[in-house]
Amino acid sequence: MSYQHILFAADFSEGALQVGERAKEIARPSGARLSLIHVVEDVNIGLGGGYELLPVLSELPDQALSQEARTALGALAEKLGLKDAEQWVVNAPSTKEGILGAAKEHGADLIVVGSHGRHGLALLLGSTANAVLHGAPCDVLAVRIR
Ligand code: AMP
Repeated sequence: MSYQHILFAADFSEGALQVGERAKEIARPSGARLSLIHVVEDVNIGLGGGYELLPVLSELPDQALSQEARTALGALAEKLGLKDAEQWVVNAPSTKEGILGAAKEHGADLIVVGSHGRHGLALLLGSTANAVLHGAPCDVLAVRIR
C-alpha cells in the first residue's frame, strides 16, 4: 500500500530537515501529495478576567507569530526542495490539535513527525510525537532524531 497524502509536521528545530527529508523519501516513489504544517499555539497572554474585553490584544500576538511562521516554513520548504508543496500555518489550542485537525480535514493518510523537537529532549518520545500518535486518524511515523 502506498500513501496518498503525507503531512509533514514541521517545527524549526535542528532536526526539521532530517524529518522533512524522510517525508520526501517516502512520498517520492509513490508520487504522494506532501504538505507541510506548522502549528502556532494560541497565546494565552494571561490577562485573566479582562482578556475577552481586549480582543485586539488577544489577536495581535498570534498574527505576528503566524506571519513569522509562514516565512520560516517557506524557507524550510525551499531548503528541502519543496517550495511547490502546500504549506499550512494554523492556529490551534495545542500543536496536537492543529496537526490532527489538518490531517482529518485534508484526508492525510500519514503524519510524519520528529521523535524530538524543542520540547521532547528529556523524553523517550517527544511530547508532540506522543500526543499525535494517541489521537491520529491515520498512520504516524516518528522519525528518530539523533
Ligand atoms: P517536540 O514535541 O517539541 O519534541 O516535537 C516533536 C516533533 O513534533 C517535531 O520534530 C515536529 O515534527 C513536531 N512539532 C513540534 N512542534 C510543532 C509545531 N509547532 N508545528 C508542527 N509540528 C511540530
